[in-house]
Amino acid sequence: MAELGTPERPLAVAIVGAGPSGFYAAEALLKAPGIAVRVDLFDRLPTPYGLVRGGVAPDHQKIKNVAAVYERTAQDPRVRFFGGVKLGVDFTIEELSARHDAVIYAVGCESDRHMGIPGEDLPGSHSATEFVGWYNGHPDHRERTFDLSTGAVAVVGVGNVAIDVTRILARDAKDLEQTDIAAYALDALRKSGVKTVWLLGRRGPAEAAYSPAEIEEIGELTSADLVVNPAEAALNGQPLESLDAAARKKTEYVQEHSKKGEGSRERKVRLRFLVSPAEIVGENGRVSAMRLEKNKLESDGKGGLKAVGTGVFETIKIGLVLRSVGYRGIPIPGVPFDEKSGHIPHVSGRVVSAPGQPPLPGRFVVGWAKRGPSGLIGTNRADSVATVNSLLADLKAGTLPASADSSLEATLRLFADKKIRALSFVDWQMLDALEKANGTKAGKIREKFTRVTDMLAALPPR
Ligand code: NAP
Repeated sequence: MAELGTPERPLAVAIVGAGPSGFYAAEALLKAPGIAVRVDLFDRLPTPYGLVRGGVAPDHQKIKNVAAVYERTAQDPRVRFFGGVKLGVDFTIEELSARHDAVIYAVGCESDRHMGIPGEDLPGSHSATEFVGWYNGHPDHRERTFDLSTGAVAVVGVGNVAIDVTRILARDAKDLEQTDIAAYALDALRKSGVKTVWLLGRRGPAEAAYSPAEIEEIGELTSADLVVNPAEAALNGQPLESLDAAARKKTEYVQEHSKKGEGSRERKVRLRFLVSPAEIVGENGRVSAMRLEKNKLESDGKGGLKAVGTGVFETIKIGLVLRSVGYRGIPIPGVPFDEKSGHIPHVSGRVVSAPGQPPLPGRFVVGWAKRGPSGLIGTNRADSVATVNSLLADLKAGTLPASADSSLEATLRLFADKKIRALSFVDWQMLDALEKANGTKAGKIREKFTRVTDMLAALPPR
């Protein structure tokens, strides 16, 4: 048999998940010197680009331009896209491995962490993941409803996702009219009665997870005042000079801002530090208030600071909670999952059945599924390159298990035999063109299809 990775027998790699980490893995494989390779990219949605489409906020269009790079990768003749097919539902890992010499999981973190406090499951308490998916027209979340008639919302956590949802709530809906925001979300935001967004950090201003530019963008909104309590913006005895550049910048910004007081706009973003939600209180079966415990900071014994409750409580009146305390992976049938970390266990990108176990030959992982929900979109490039380097080292060492039938037809037959319609990249390009055309009609960048059935109905029958 011809050697794997040669023109006679190209290396066949399946990548599950067509978000940033999947595309960067595909790009790294295509660039591997001296290796003949072909890549099949699978996504459970008919649409590619993962969080670039379904996560990045509609008022951050520039970040979405990175999709042009992924599009070039997808158009390489060595790459095929299979959209609308889900691993563990429409096909199994065994079926994939029988047709590919290596499988790379790029499945991200689709769920979210919980706070573990009473009232968390009351109607009116949601994860930020759901809200983000809703305003971005993600088919999983488009049918959700959020009560924006309430005067006050609590956003728990101070990461960049918390900042995104706060900004979308606090912005004048007019600013979003020309973006690719889902039409129903724009309509709901136009009618929003939200006057106060509480942005709740459990530690201090130097420990906030948001980037300096993100909090500055909140401070620069013309539709809302950013209000910070000067006492909470103060440092916990740490000298400003002891902070790294980003922590110092974030701290200086909120300290400066805290001097501005309440401002004159009707809408407020009330950024709080050193408070933890202790309970979500319900009235008439839905969220009505949140009990907060005041925290102090103590050493975590690892060179950092942790929040510790002081036993002092306060209650804020709210009608909606958006929990933004981090994402978490979802287990996929047949794919190892570490419950503790919430992602796929691995060593240098090589999947292991459980921490401490040897790698499973031919199985790899990239992106948030590999390292957890951290980093910006660009962080995934180096991370995917590192995993692909492990894969290429295994190819060189002869430890990749050559598949039984890596032919191009084998995967097509798999779906044809099951009577499953897997969408191609050409199908996506048709949807893309239709979304842009519908957007033009509505005076927007694009009008997304938000239901899979609508996407399929818009395509010519096969
Ligand atoms: P994150 O950066 O990890 O932030 C999570 C926040 O939740 C932190 O403030 C954390 O506080 C807090 N938290 C965790 N558990 C909590 C609890 N039980 N009670 C109260 N607060 C709690 O996660 P993320 O905001 O979901 O973002 C995920 C990744 O995507 C990040 O790398 C982010 O930078 C990136 N992202 C970037 C952008 C952008 O560039 N515009 C936009 C969106 C997302 P502690 O620090 O105290 O743990």
